[in-house]
Amino acid sequence: MSAADNYRQLISKLPSYVTLVAVSKTKPVELLREVYDAGQRDFGENYVQELVDKHAQLPSDIRWHFIGHLQTNKVKYIAPFVYLIHGVDSYKLLKEINKQAAKNNRVINVLLQMHIAREETKFGLDDKELMAIVESPELHELRNICIRGLMGMASFTENEQEVRKEFQYISGLFTTIKNKPSVFNFQPSILSIGMSSDYKIAIEEGSTMIRIGTTIFGKR
Ligand SMILES: *Cc1c(COP(=O)(O)O)cnc(C)c1O
Repeated sequence: MSAADNYRQLISKLPSYVTLVAVSKTKPVELLREVYDAGQRDFGENYVQELVDKHAQLPSDIRWHFIGHLQTNKVKYIAPFVYLIHGVDSYKLLKEINKQAAKNNRVINVLLQMHIAREETKFGLDDKELMAIVESPELHELRNICIRGLMGMASFTENEQEVRKEFQYISGLFTTIKNKPSVFNFQPSILSIGMSSDYKIAIEEGSTMIRIGTTIFGKR
């Protein structure tokens, strides 16, 4: 099946409140164009240079999601156009995104990445670090960012119960922060959990945004 067929089949089965981000890292622009032509508008990339190149070559109504680990010195390259940055895991990075957004006269939407997997190697905040950021007295100074919710990646395991437990944990934190008063730059409504192998479990546990590569584009 073509990428467009895979896409159509997937989207037809998703609840309407779940946003599908098509993860197109390492895939050629022709393949993205095919899925775009089938109706998809949200695309996710992990590498800054690749995102910048693809943005230049594809239609301007695409919403580009940065889902990789973002280094502070690279924020400036994507700040003019990025729609949502999923992987924010420090106050320092948040400040730099704010600075570059201000330079571009815009507000950049971000998700705070939580460390939910057992694996040590994965990035993200723990619950204390999350609360320190959302309760920071200086947060109101960041006028050019908006915290839209949380992102997480479950452990890479066949153990469904383990994956579900990790999603339940982040889902609980999402509920906690959603119950805080919303401010101009703090409006959590997005829970970005679920990839090709685990998106069904993620949706059962409250996901509102899934990031799908392999199921649409095939193996990388
Ligand atoms: C690559 C990637 C995905 C998509 O993974 P698939 O298993 O191919 O669906 C989702 N999220 C992040 C952060 C990724 O790096």
